[in-house]
Amino acid sequence: MGIEEEFYVFPTYDSKNIVNIPSFVSRIFGVKANKCIDKKLTKSFKGYKNVVLFILDGFGYSLLEYVKDVFEFTKNFEKEGTITKLTSTFPSSTAPAVVSIFTGKTPIEHGVVEWYTYVEKIRSVIEAIPLTTIEKIKLSEKEFKHSNFFYSTTIFQRLKKVGVESFYLVSRFYAQSSFSKFLSKGGKVVPFISYGDIPTLVKSVVSKEGKKFVIVYLDMPDSLEHFYNFGNEVLLELSLFDRIFSVLRKEVNDTLFLLTADHGGTTVSKFINIERIKVVRESLERKGKRVIPPYGWCRSIFLRLKKSKVKTTFETLERKLKGYASVYLSEDLISKGVFGPRNGKFSQRFGDVIVVPKKGVAIYSNYMKNVKKFNGFHGGLSLEEMLVPFGILAV
Ligand SMILES: [Zn+2]
Repeated sequence: MGIEEEFYVFPTYDSKNIVNIPSFVSRIFGVKANKCIDKKLTKSFKGYKNVVLFILDGFGYSLLEYVKDVFEFTKNFEKEGTITKLTSTFPSSTAPAVVSIFTGKTPIEHGVVEWYTYVEKIRSVIEAIPLTTIEKIKLSEKEFKHSNFFYSTTIFQRLKKVGVESFYLVSRFYAQSSFSKFLSKGGKVVPFISYGDIPTLVKSVVSKEGKKFVIVYLDMPDSLEHFYNFGNEVLLELSLFDRIFSVLRKEVNDTLFLLTADHGGTTVSKFINIERIKVVRESLERKGKRVIPPYGWCRSIFLRLKKSKVKTTFETLERKLKGYASVYLSEDLISKGVFGPRNGKFSQRFGDVIVVPKKGVAIYSNYMKNVKKFNGFHGGLSLEEMLVPFGILAV
C-alpha cells in the first residue's frame, strides 16, 4: 500500500511488513505461501535445515542505524547477509505486532488492537497481556471465549504439517503466560533462565535431526527504552545480545538466522489527558452507568462514541489537537487498509475516532496511570516507531 502522509509511515501489509515473516519462513522450508516480503530475497535463501528468528523488542530501524558500527552482530548481518526495512503493524505495539509475527495475520484479522483493546461481545476494554479487564479483574471463561484472542493458527502449526518442529525460546518469567501458550501453539516453549543460556538452548534444539524453526523473543531493548530512551543503558543491553550472537553463530551450521523487531520507539515530552477534553467526556459510549474509556495506548488512542456524537467529537478534536495529533474517523483508516484487509473480522475493535499523536506527544486516558514516568513510547505512525530491520544471515 505504502501511503505516506506528513511524517507518518503506514503499514505495507502486502509486501515488506512483519506480518509476512511467517510466509518468508514457510518458503525457506519449501512451503507455498500467498504473500511475500520480497520474491528475489526469498529465492536466494531457500533450503536450510534450521531457521532461527530473533525478535528484539523495540529494536527499530532507527536504533539499528544508530548502533550499526558499534556491534559485531549488526556488521555481520550487513556485510555477510542482508538487512531490509520492514514496516510494523499499526498500532506499532508489542501485542498486535508480536501476534502478527507468529500468525501472519494483520491486527484486523487477529483482533489484538493494542495493549488495551475493546472487545465488542462484552462491551469492555481489556488488557491484552495478561488478559484482564482494566479494573484488573481476570476474564471469566465466557468473556475469554468472546475475546476471540487466541483463535488464529500459528506459523508453528502450519510448519508442523510439513514435518518442521518449532520452538519458542522466551524468558522463564513469560513462559507460563496464556499469551506464550497461544503463541507457541503447534510448537514447544523453551524457557531461558537469563540471556546467558540462550546459545546453549538454541544449539541443543537445532543440532537434533530434522528441520527446526526457532523463535527467540527478547524483551530488550524495549523495556529500557521506555525509561532511558536510547542511552548507554540500551547500548549495554545490546552488547549482551552481541555476545550471545557471536557465540551462537560459531556453534551451529546449515542455519539461517533472521533478526527483526516488533516495532521501534520514539521520545515524548508533551503529555495530554484526552479525558480532560469536555467533548470527549460527554460523547464516550456508555455501558450502563460507566463510560467505555479511550483505549489503545499513548501513541494511538481509540474512542468509542455515542453514534450521534461522532461527527462533533471528530471536528472538535481536530481543532483542539491541531499541531499535537492527527485525528481520523476509524472507518477511513479501516477502508484504507491501515489495520489489514477491509473485510477483516475485527473491524469493530477500532472504535469511531482514532487520535494519532505527532512526534514528541503522548495522549493518554485516566486509567493509563504513570505514563509520565516514561520517556520512550511506541504505537504511533512515526518513522522511528514504524520501521524495523529484517536481517538475514546464513551460516
Ligand atoms: Zn514491543
